[in-house]
Amino acid sequence: MRLPPDRCNPQVNPILAVTAACRRRQRVGQSVVDLSVGQPDFPTPPEIGAAATQAIERGETRYPPLQGIGELRVALRRTLEAAGLGYSPREILVTAGATGALFDAFQALLEAGDRVLVPVPTYPSYADQIELAGGLVTPVATRAADGFKLRPETLRQAAVESGARLLVLNQPNNPTGAVYGRQQLAALAEVICDLDLDLISDEVYRDFVYASPEHTDPEETSLGHTSPVELGAEMKERTLVVGSLSKSYAMTGWRVGFAAGPAAVIKALMHVQEASLVGPATPCQWAAVAALDGDQAGKEAMVAAFARRHRYVRQRLQAMPGVVCDGAQGAFFAFPDLAAYTADSSDFCRRLLDHHGVAVVPGAAFGAPSCLRLSYAVEDADLEHGLDRFEAALSEIEMKGDNGLTA
Ligand code: PMP
Repeated sequence: MRLPPDRCNPQVNPILAVTAACRRRQRVGQSVVDLSVGQPDFPTPPEIGAAATQAIERGETRYPPLQGIGELRVALRRTLEAAGLGYSPREILVTAGATGALFDAFQALLEAGDRVLVPVPTYPSYADQIELAGGLVTPVATRAADGFKLRPETLRQAAVESGARLLVLNQPNNPTGAVYGRQQLAALAEVICDLDLDLISDEVYRDFVYASPEHTDPEETSLGHTSPVELGAEMKERTLVVGSLSKSYAMTGWRVGFAAGPAAVIKALMHVQEASLVGPATPCQWAAVAALDGDQAGKEAMVAAFARRHRYVRQRLQAMPGVVCDGAQGAFFAFPDLAAYTADSSDFCRRLLDHHGVAVVPGAAFGAPSCLRLSYAVEDADLEHGLDRFEAALSEIEMKGDNGLTA
């Protein structure tokens, strides 16, 4: 069979490449602490699984409606409303995780050659999804000193220079953990409205906020997430919210997410989904109803565990000489900057895996080579063990040699 030349060797997702290297070592009996994972270490709460079984027993095994089952769209409407986001069920599309929503959105919104503003460091899948839709990425730099948050003037300049009409904003952010406060969002919203931009707001980590974005006290308890949509009608008209049950309910394998936005936009996404997927499996959608409508204690306990780990990881990393790590307020990643040691952490990450048995993702995967992503979606004991090994590996390299590495 013939493949177009540019599709013969698709790039391996750098995060999955690390996970695969980690699994290979674990299979041959090596002890590896996997801090590369991007999914909760908690199991899906059993009552959610039971709802899927019950749906199958009731015979809910046929095609789902294209927009998603009504019960789930009502549950999503209620959940969004409780978070201050008012959408009717016809403004909501049930998708195969946030990935499905993002894929549908770029296919629906982009024309060939359209540019999309993507703040860097970035979740790597956006670029693939944008390019598959014929679009082009315009990276917009953020700085560690700003907690990796986009500055309004940087956004303005990048938008004007590139002619892009669409921005993707992910917060709490993968990989940096950055969360925007209301004032910070308002300053961006001013540019967005002024330049007539549209926005995809990726809120998959919205339940994972551990500290106030506008304060720096790491002991501050959860103060919640603000969506750009909360800033008023004009932002709501310009924004497509993308969300998921993957992280909030430890349901990554169930593939249920959603998009919420203006009805006409939702209709266009639905058209893409009709041609590509039809929708997430019907029993999984019933499981999602149970997740949203059921007792939230499991989710709250999970988020509390992540909050505790967030503080622990931050304290450990901040105590390591030369490591800069103070931006994050959410998600379940730390994104320490090793610039004092090296401009590209890839060699260090390889060494960390090969010699110390710890898997992390090099910052180059996210467009920030001097950093690395360390996930705390692992049990406390593994996290402690992994950080001990990380510290030992760091003590073996010198600050700023030629490439930062001495051995
Ligand atoms: N957006 C971001 C920022 C993510 O980190 C992820 C998962 N790693 C997704 C979207 C996709 O999540 P899912 O498809 O499982 O809902």
